[in-house]
Amino acid sequence: MNEPFLSAIPVLKRLEDSGYEAYFVGGSVRDYLLKRPISDVDIAVSATPEEVKKIFPKTVDIGIEHGTVLVLIHNHSYEITTFRTEGEYQDYRRPKEVAFIRNLNEDLQRRDFTMNAMAMDRYGTLIDPFNGQLAIKEKMIQTVGSATERFQEDALRIMRAVRFVSQLSFSIEADTLKALTKLVPLLQNIAIERKRVEFEKLLVGENCHKAMEILLETNLFSFLPGLENQKKLIEGLMAYNTKNLSKKEMWSLLLFCLNLHGKAIEVFLRNWRLPVKDIKEIQQIVEYLEKRLEQEWSVYDLYTAGRNTVTSTEKLHDVIKGLTGLQSQQQWLNLYDALPIKQRSDISVTGGDLMEWFQRHGGPWLKETILKIEYAILMGVVMNDKQKIKEWLMTCSQN
Ligand code: ATP
Ligand code: MG
Repeated sequence: MNEPFLSAIPVLKRLEDSGYEAYFVGGSVRDYLLKRPISDVDIAVSATPEEVKKIFPKTVDIGIEHGTVLVLIHNHSYEITTFRTEGEYQDYRRPKEVAFIRNLNEDLQRRDFTMNAMAMDRYGTLIDPFNGQLAIKEKMIQTVGSATERFQEDALRIMRAVRFVSQLSFSIEADTLKALTKLVPLLQNIAIERKRVEFEKLLVGENCHKAMEILLETNLFSFLPGLENQKKLIEGLMAYNTKNLSKKEMWSLLLFCLNLHGKAIEVFLRNWRLPVKDIKEIQQIVEYLEKRLEQEWSVYDLYTAGRNTVTSTEKLHDVIKGLTGLQSQQQWLNLYDALPIKQRSDISVTGGDLMEWFQRHGGPWLKETILKIEYAILMGVVMNDKQKIKEWLMTCSQN
């Protein structure tokens, strides 16, 4: 075993010493077998959340109704979830209520795909009742039990299957794909927030193109906000090499392909329930991208965009133009780094200075003057030095 499992072994041991069964489960075991980087280990335990809380002094209730407690120990945090079944499903969504159980196999059985339904004990022994290892070897996404039933229980699993195609470059097993194609309309019952999590993972996966193909072939895209009638435009997105693009850059490229502007971008992303801050950033990237495709950067635009937006815009510009070298990106970033100021607060003069120099009270003139100074510094007309700016302002006001 390797990190992050090694650090978590004492947590499992402590649970076992208290008389419970505890295992690594889910995505972390899958990714371990695939030799993929692992961010967090998921731990499943036969103890109830209350019992877990008695064992560890520092815990946080992060989803106690689903059986999950966060344990804080040695500067690490671990999500520990009680073995559970999901009881009755309603309206093709995961149930509100879950039942805690003491049996690992039943817990594994409620999981979506065989590759995600394995457990590993603290000695590295695998518990694999559904042949998950074979699925991994064959790069197959297959539901645990009847695909039709599993997708009817929780239709989000339909999207999860496709995002694993993107993330892992696996294929969907024939029966699973058949059921998925038939049941795609059930996705209309699923909360957009849950769809977004899966869609964003799909967008940044290594095999995004293949996943997009499946979205189109199965008509799944028709059940995603704002993509309902956009087959042609999604095909447009697939023409690009999107490797190495971040989540925000992928959203921006998608919006560019959909030919959305200004307010329409905001509406689209709000429908996907993106946080306001992300919406603003993505809007900015698309705006600068459109400009950049027409012309080179001006010094003033580099400044107002900021380093991150310049980087993202340049990456997308190169993707759209089919350029591969990083040379021009670097050139623009060098120019950005050489700007005499990076933000308004870098200006060596304050509003207070101006009021004192001109013996005037505050008012619109103050903002105007600051803007004038900002522009002059950026254009190299005056140095960002208090005395120099004062002299420059005085000569200006004499003319
Ligand atoms: P990632 O590496 O992207 O986190 P993951 O497989 O760990 O992938 P999570 O959403 O973190 O995905 O879920 C953890 C585990 O919980 C899964 O591996 C699976 O066993 C189970 N699981 C998650 N969502 C569902 C679902 N909708 N239905 C059934 N089981 C699920
Ligand atoms: Mg996970």
